[in-house]
Amino acid sequence: MTAAPHDLRTIRTELEAGTTTVSALVERSLARSAERASLNAFLELFPESARVKAFEVDQKLRAGTAGPLAGLTLGLKDNICYKGHRVSASSRMLEGFTSLYSATVVERLLAADAVIVGRTNCDEFAMGSSNENSAFGPVGHPGQEHMVPGGSSGGSAAAVAANMCLASLGSDTGGSIRQPASFCGVVGFKPTYGRISRYGLIAFASSFDQIGPFAHTVQDAARLYEVMAGADPRDSTTSRRPVEPVPATHPGKLRIAWYRECLEHPGMDPHIKAHLQATIDRLKTEGHVVEPIDLPLLDQFVPTYYILATAEASSNLARYDGVHIGHRSSRATNVDDTYRLSRSEGYGREVQRRILLGTFVLSAGYYDAYYAQGQRVRRLIRDNTVRALEQYDLVITPTCPTTAFERGAITDPVAMYLQDIFTVQANLAGVPAISIPAGIHPNGLPFGLQLMAAPFAEAKLLAAARDVFGG
Ligand code: GLN
Repeated sequence: MTAAPHDLRTIRTELEAGTTTVSALVERSLARSAERASLNAFLELFPESARVKAFEVDQKLRAGTAGPLAGLTLGLKDNICYKGHRVSASSRMLEGFTSLYSATVVERLLAADAVIVGRTNCDEFAMGSSNENSAFGPVGHPGQEHMVPGGSSGGSAAAVAANMCLASLGSDTGGSIRQPASFCGVVGFKPTYGRISRYGLIAFASSFDQIGPFAHTVQDAARLYEVMAGADPRDSTTSRRPVEPVPATHPGKLRIAWYRECLEHPGMDPHIKAHLQATIDRLKTEGHVVEPIDLPLLDQFVPTYYILATAEASSNLARYDGVHIGHRSSRATNVDDTYRLSRSEGYGREVQRRILLGTFVLSAGYYDAYYAQGQRVRRLIRDNTVRALEQYDLVITPTCPTTAFERGAITDPVAMYLQDIFTVQANLAGVPAISIPAGIHPNGLPFGLQLMAAPFAEAKLLAAARDVFGG
């Protein structure tokens, strides 16, 4: 079997030349997914609906009425609803649950003629950085299977990297698109908070969550973004600002900042650090203005995120009580036990830990000390971040301090939380951020670099990622 092309433009050329069909591309995607089943990237393939959709898109191509995503095979993170298909958030709590409606993003992608080939594994309720927290087994790194692919959208990143589908969707609450993108060597993009509807996304921390794409190229991520973005009456937090298309032209000379505190961070891998320094030098040589700036409160980013995100999670996950929705214990004989046993059996350890932590920081005696204080620090971080992004077109950072690590290597939850050190800022501030493949480490594993831009500056961010950073 010949390798599938890695970008939509090439695929469209082949479709137009008649050398392939959408049905053939879907068969190749299904076959490739079966071939690499040991990665555990897909929890389930949707061959029937994928074949029906592919047939429809092939007909539309012949009639000249196909949408902009015709030819694109897509993996859906298992926390995004697709009517009539299962969705579980990789949790026993929702095992066997079938979506009653489709997420807005799913409706828009199908309307643009993408074909959804299956649902991808992730950390339970999107909580994690290694995809080891799935109730349905960990995901392997596509390059070295005993390593982790990152998380929480590990299955989505691995599926694209291993060419099981052309693109996929993830959700990013604290880095869950960008960190696995960095680990797996693909593009991962989190738009501005409110740019893409969260309707039909299983909520983790509602003031942070954003859906975004994984792809091999920035151009393909941009195409998916353009289809998904924009106001949605079913999500009141979506912005009504018009979605600017990503310009086809080079963005020209840019003002780019980098944070001293990130590069000097003690956890930074020396090779990734040297690579970033070389990138900064190259950008200067090319005539961009590149300047170091300070990043106040870096040490507060992760604690602030984990206080606020767990608080929101404890509230969002209260609905899965075994009574109205979710797993119900067969051992319970009274009301109290129904709640206690259903939630103890339905949730894994990490989810339980976060519900406890979130309930604690919201409790009457500790609310002011933790939750209210966290909100104040978040505002400071947001203001500092947005101020810098008003003075510069972009800020460049490493996506993660290291490459992928071995499965089982990080057992301390706090050490795992520190994975998010460079990614949570964009979620705390609500700004758009992208991870693009930067290079291959001497250890053989890929790593990414992260670009952030001002709120709603996606068009500029994506054009720069494509033309200035070669993503
Ligand atoms: N790793 C972070 C967490 O565990 C981010 C998760 C995410 O973005 N969904 O909370």
